[in-house]
Amino acid sequence: MASLNIGFIGLGNMGAPMAANLAKAGHKVRGFDVAGTTAEGVEQAQTIPDAVTGADVVITMLPNGSILRQVAAEAIGHMREGAVFIDCSTVDVESARNTSEAAEKAGLLAVDAPVSGGVGGAEAGTLTFMAGGSEAAFAAAAPLFEIMGQKAVHCGDAGAGQSAKICNNMILGATMIATCEAFALADKLGLDRQRMFDVVSTSSGYSWSMNAYCPAPGVGPKSPADNGYKPGFAAELMVKDLGLSQQAAELVDADTPMGARALELYKAFVEEEDGKGKDFSAMLPRFAGRGRGN
Ligand code: NAD
Repeated sequence: MASLNIGFIGLGNMGAPMAANLAKAGHKVRGFDVAGTTAEGVEQAQTIPDAVTGADVVITMLPNGSILRQVAAEAIGHMREGAVFIDCSTVDVESARNTSEAAEKAGLLAVDAPVSGGVGGAEAGTLTFMAGGSEAAFAAAAPLFEIMGQKAVHCGDAGAGQSAKICNNMILGATMIATCEAFALADKLGLDRQRMFDVVSTSSGYSWSMNAYCPAPGVGPKSPADNGYKPGFAAELMVKDLGLSQQAAELVDADTPMGARALELYKAFVEEEDGKGKDFSAMLPRFAGRGRGN
């Protein structure tokens, strides 16, 4: 494809390698981050208008919905009509819809496109994108998703990407907890962890948490459990995503008791116990060290 002018806002753990991959693919990328961070092959802009003026595409990779709204409010007015605004951050569904609406009102194409795959996926260019927006907006963004990722699913209208992401991660949080508490029960029943894995990973209790990211050290494929529970996917990020799914559930009056309980457990783990800075699979030693009374 022809070389595009891309403005990239938010060059953090995820954004920096994503922007670097776009530059490596031959696009002209101007990046801006309030922290002054930069990325390989990316020209450093001093302000948001400086990063987005004249851009064909603007991509944001920011911490939360309120920052996205602020950044979008500043960026959109400086973008040329017909340009594409792609937000790849994980944010609340309302902020995603609000941002798309503001962009479309200004004559832009807009896509909410949160990712899964983590920092490793961002570096390797193997992220999965879950996208919401019009057909035209998705078609315009798709070639860039191909550079930064290995799969992009068009989930529906504005906000549908965020909806898919938080539903997926609500399942992930709940299944990781179920997997960890089952291992802790198996321990106390005297069951060997490897045998537990051999059975569950090929039986109806199997899941990504068990089969691909086993929380028991030395069992199953290599995972953060084999590296002292260094993230990986930090428990704090799971608290964020479970919080977003509960916020969305309230908005649309959905009954999500497992998601609510998973949020409570991860929140306590991070805020009151020793979960901060650990991978979200470190729920296993947490459960293993407890009894029914605590
Ligand atoms: P990060 O904190 O490393 O990066 C965010 C960047 O945004 C920071 O560098 C910060 O300085 C910058 N920023 C904040 N306010 C800004 C502003 N007003 N203008 C310009 N830049 C600003 O976070 P991250 O790990 O890169 O995650 C980014 C997003 O991706 C989050 O929404 C996160 O939930 C999501 N996500 C992260 C992972 C992961 O494994 N890290 C995985 C999937 C999704």
